[in-house]
Amino acid sequence: MNVIEKAPAKINLGLDTPMRYPDGSPQWNMIMTSIDLADYVSVEVFQKHHQIKVYTDSGFLPNDQRNLAYQAVHILRNRFHQKDGVTVRIKKNIPVAAGLGGGSADAAAVLRALNRIWHLGLSLEELAKISLTIDSDVPYCVYNQTAHVTGHGEKVNLLAPFPHYSIVLAKPKVSVSTPTILKRIDYQRLNHNVNIEQIIQGLEQVDEEMMFDAMGNVLEPLTNQMYPEIMKLKQKMLDHGASVAQMSGTGPTVFGVCKKLSQAKRLQNSLRGFCHEVYLVRAL
Ligand code: ATP
Repeated sequence: MNVIEKAPAKINLGLDTPMRYPDGSPQWNMIMTSIDLADYVSVEVFQKHHQIKVYTDSGFLPNDQRNLAYQAVHILRNRFHQKDGVTVRIKKNIPVAAGLGGGSADAAAVLRALNRIWHLGLSLEELAKISLTIDSDVPYCVYNQTAHVTGHGEKVNLLAPFPHYSIVLAKPKVSVSTPTILKRIDYQRLNHNVNIEQIIQGLEQVDEEMMFDAMGNVLEPLTNQMYPEIMKLKQKMLDHGASVAQMSGTGPTVFGVCKKLSQAKRLQNSLRGFCHEVYLVRAL
C-alpha cells in the first residue's frame, strides 16, 4: 500500500521563550501557522523486507537515521511492534535549515501515513505525543493548523485560523543551525518584543491590527548578529508594503504578510535579485 501525504511548512507568527529547562532546552511560547509551501511524502510498506529506506530529491539530505522521516518510521514501528519494511520518498519543496520546519513536517507526514496504512487508529493528539522525541516542531506539524505551542513543543492548542493573507517568504543564501542559535540565548538580556496573548486575541476577534502589532520573534536579533541580512530584508519588506515582516523560527527565512495579493506580487518582484529564494504563499 502506498500513501502520499502533504507536508506543509510552518511559520512562527509569534516566538517567545521565557526560560530554559534544566536539560538546556528552551521552554517555548509560540504561535504557529502552516502555509501552502509543502513537501510531498510517499510512504510504502513491504512484507518482503524489514528495512527502512528513505529517498529524497534534495541531493544533500541524509537518508539514514539522521533523517527525521526515518526516525518517525523507527519510532512508530517499534512502539506498535510492526515488522514491515518501509520506504519513504520525499519530494522536497521546503528549503532546508530555513526556519520553516521542513524536516519536522516530513516526519509528521510519515506518522500520519503509517497511522492509516497500519490501521493504528491513533488520534492526532496521540500521534503528537509520540512524535516529541523526534523534534520539538513535530507535534505541531502533526496538526498543521494555527496553534499556540508551549512546553518543549508538546502542548499544541488549536486556535482560530490565520486569515488567508498573501505571504512573501524570502530566504537568504545562508543555512542557520538551530542548536547554534538556541545556545546563544541569554535569558537575562532577551528582549520580549512579542505579545503571544494579544496575537491569540487578535486571531479570535479577527482584528488584524491587534494581531500584527503583537507579532514578533525574540530570536531575530540573535540570528541577525550572525547574518545581518535578516534585518535588511525585514526592512525592505516593510518599505515595500508588507503589513508586518519578521523572521520565522531560528531563521534565516523572513516573511512579509500582505493584505492584498497585488501588494504581495509587487513585494515579490522587488525582492528578486536582492534575495536568493523568494516564494509567494498563503496561510492554509
Ligand atoms: P526547525 O525550525 O524545526 O529547526 P528548520 O526549517 O530550520 O527546522 P529543517 O529544514 O527541518 O530546518 O532541517 C534542519 C536539519 O534537519 C538539517 O540539518 C537537515 O539536515 C536535518 N533533516 C533531517 N531530516 C530532514 C528532512 N526530511 N528534511 C529537511 N531536513 C532534514
